[in-house]
Amino acid sequence: MVGKQVWAFVGAGLGVWISASDAAAQTRPEDTEVWKPLVPVVAPGTVSGAAPSDAIILFDGRDLDQWVTAADKSPAGWIVADGVITVDKARGNIETKRTFRDYQLHLEWRIPADIAGSGQARGNSGVFLASTGSRDQGYEVQILDSYQSSTYVNGQAGAVYKQHPPLANANRKPGEWQTYDIIWRAPVFGPDGVLTRAASVTVLHNGVLVQDNAVLAGETVYIGKPGYKAHGPSPIKLQAHGDPSAPISFRNIWVRELAPR
Ligand code: MG
Repeated sequence: MVGKQVWAFVGAGLGVWISASDAAAQTRPEDTEVWKPLVPVVAPGTVSGAAPSDAIILFDGRDLDQWVTAADKSPAGWIVADGVITVDKARGNIETKRTFRDYQLHLEWRIPADIAGSGQARGNSGVFLASTGSRDQGYEVQILDSYQSSTYVNGQAGAVYKQHPPLANANRKPGEWQTYDIIWRAPVFGPDGVLTRAASVTVLHNGVLVQDNAVLAGETVYIGKPGYKAHGPSPIKLQAHGDPSAPISFRNIWVRELAPR
């Protein structure tokens, strides 16, 4: 039978269209990796990350009182020392006790100076802008060492994972602190659970625009196509990635809630 050709959009922002039959066949992680074109490198300037007066402080160097273990909501067990959080991979993802809709988020992260490994196994973490499950469900902005280290471009630091490569590679060297400033507009769902407005995100990496009001095709996924499922206000989650490289660190995390549009 000669059926009507149905097309599905993948790799939003890249203008990549494939047939629905091809989309159905996407069962491997590499099916959604994009390697070209490469992202231009930009050397960042300095950034002040001081919290403004109306910020909710999520980490000020002292404790993880604002965070829980994502899996069981027990107290977050990542390591806090010298004003810095370091990921404890064995304890899994952590997320905020509070839930959020739209917001402005600042966080700082550091890849260990002696990081080893390559590609996705080199300081992998991530910030999930709305956590919709305890593991990696949600909308991930990738954290990774992408300083002179290559991987698929829609999975490097600053990417909306497997949806939007960053507009620039503004990575600092491993061992140096880096900033993300993120404006998150959560997806809107009708009372029937149907999506009425897609999520969008703007990201500055070390003060350099890397996502410009990028519209998400759904939750970010490792294998297959993104999709939405209805949810309300959600925690912000940090990723304990299972790769064998040394754990990364965070500091100075704050958020400002924004009125929904
Ligand atoms: Mg990650």
